[in-house]
Order: sequence, then structure tokens, then C-alpha cells
Amino acid sequence: MNSQKLISVVVPAYNEEAVLDAFHQRMSALFDTLAAYRCEMIFVNDGSRDGTQAIIDRLCDADPRVAGVNLSRNFGKEIAMTAGLDHARGDAVVIIDADLQDPPELIVDMVREWEAGYDVVYAKRTAREGETWLKKATASAFYRLMKRVSRVAIPQDTGDFRLMSRRAMDALLQLREQHRFMKGLFAWVGYRTKAIEYRRDPRAAGETKFNYWKLWNFALEGITSFTIAPLKLATYLGLATAGLAFAFGTWIIVKTLVFGEVVQGFPTLMVTILFLGGVQLFFTGVLGEYLGRIFNETKNRPLYFTQDVRPSRVGGGGRVPTVRAAADRAGLA
Ligand code: UDP
Ligand code: MG
Repeated sequence: MNSQKLISVVVPAYNEEAVLDAFHQRMSALFDTLAAYRCEMIFVNDGSRDGTQAIIDRLCDADPRVAGVNLSRNFGKEIAMTAGLDHARGDAVVIIDADLQDPPELIVDMVREWEAGYDVVYAKRTAREGETWLKKATASAFYRLMKRVSRVAIPQDTGDFRLMSRRAMDALLQLREQHRFMKGLFAWVGYRTKAIEYRRDPRAAGETKFNYWKLWNFALEGITSFTIAPLKLATYLGLATAGLAFAFGTWIIVKTLVFGEVVQGFPTLMVTILFLGGVQLFFTGVLGEYLGRIFNETKNRPLYFTQDVRPSRVGGGGRVPTVRAAADRAGLA
């Protein structure tokens, strides 16, 4: 039985054939420098339509430190990460993108902070290379908004690249909601947290999987998962409008009693009707966003299905997290 601590690195991969070999090479070199630990990298194939799975299979055959989880279809990055985390046995678990935008070398610093007693060590970007100003501006606006409306402090300019201790991971894995805004969930579990800074590199190869429509939906997911502020906004806006309408109504009645009734005010009427109609439709939509999510949660489906799972062959067995065992019993693996 090997008493060295195990570090699991979880890598979600969707159509990443162009970059996986380079990623594996760089991560292996890093593992060699982490000689005091046992290390494994777990590739999660998120229903790729290219040669990603063939590469993962080949890497699994050739390298005992590689594990593969093959999902039954594309579930999206948040769920792909969750699948990888479910299968990670490490005393510490790292999440990293496959495209080498997150420099693996930073893991050494993360491990140092973890050994110093931190449960969550996340990487904060000081610069993002190779991204458009529009993406940077919208991302920054989103984080500022989240900070204002949510009670959970979601760190700004932070992706999913982070290390979590076993206990933080076991806490996280108990959150099985369908709408998984992982950045928020990471923050929600709490524990001692430390940020380390880095410059985000451009993609090594391949293309981004996130267009603006996806990012918009991602932002909606973040907001609706972590705050009911939009619903409260409807309450207060409604209250204010009703107050104003009451005052205005009183004025009209008094005016009619004093000066008599002259048919006038068509523009006022139109503006009022259209404005109120618009506001009502908008907030019906907001209600719908929440209602739809309740609908999805109540179905209580498993988060994903796997076609096949190939554990790594790092020695020493590692431990099967309790939550993981529960997921096994529920037939999720
Ligand atoms: N990814 C995934 N499933 C998806 C979309 C993306 O597993 O449906 C993975 C992708 O392979 C990569 C990571 O998520 O490892 C980040 O994706 P990408 O680089 O496209 O996002 P960006 O860095 O542009 O935000
Ligand atoms: Mg990327």
C-alpha cells in the first residue's frame, strides 16, 4: 500500500483531438516534477464527435496515470466536470481545461497552498491572452453583477481551474442539482480558500466551444441558480408602479370632477398600456426562467450516463469517496 498522497487532475474534453496529445505531454512532465505524490489525470470525453475518444483510449493504454470517463453524449462542461470529479479518488482534485489555456505548472503552487492548509485554491486571471475585448468586457460585467446580486461571493476573473481538498470535494459532490453553475457551487461550499494569480494563455489548438449565445445562457444560469433578485425586482417595481398609478388615478378623477370630462389623453393611454404590457411580459418571462428550472429539477434525473470508465493504474488503490460510492449504488457509473 502506497502512502503517498494522490492528486487527481480532471480534464473535460469536447472535440479536443487537436490538443490532447500536447496536453498529455505537458501534464506528464509536470507529474514527474511532483515526485512526492501519486498523480492521475482523468479525461472526460463529453460526447465528442471527433477523434477525442480514440486519443484518450490510446493514452490510457500507454500511460498508467491516465484515466478515461466516456459520457453517453454531450452534456456540457459543467456536467462533464462533475462526472470527472465523481470518478476522482484523489486526496486533492484539480480541474483544468484541456486546451492548455490554464498553465498546468500552476498546479505546483496550488499543491503548496493545499499542503499549507487551504481547501480550495483557485487560479485568478490577471490577463487573458487571445480573447476579444467584447468577451473580456462582458465577462467582467457579469462578475460585477453576480457580486452585487448574490449572497455567495463568487470570485471575479476566475474560471474553473482550481484545486480542492477531499473534504471540500465531498461537500461539492453532495450538490446534485441539474442546473450546475459550477463556479457558484465551488464558492457555495466554502472552506478555507486561497487565490493565486496567473496570466491566461490563448488556446494551444482547436476552437472555443462557447459562442455568445451559450455565454448568455451561462450567465442566466449563474444568476437564476444563485439569487432570486430578479423576482424581488418584480415585486418592488410592481409596488412602485401601483403607487404611481394610484396617485395618477386620483388626479384624473379629481380633474374630471372639477373640469368635466373631455375625451383626451390618447397618447398617455397608449404609452401606459404598452409600457405596462412590456413590463408584465418581461417579468412573466423572468418567472418562467425560474419555473422552468424548478421543472427540470423536479424530474430528478441522473446527471449523466457513462459508456465506459477506465480507471488509472496508479498504485496504492486510493480511496473511494463516500458520495461516489453512493452514486455507484444509484447506478450512475
Ligand atoms: N468542454 C466540454 N463540454 C462542452 C464544451 C466544452 O467538456 O460542451 C470543455 C472543453 O473541451 C475545454 C473546456 O471545456 O476543455 C473549456 O472549453 P473552451 O476552451 O471551449 O472554453 P473557453 O476557454 O473558450 O471559455
Ligand atoms: Mg478555452
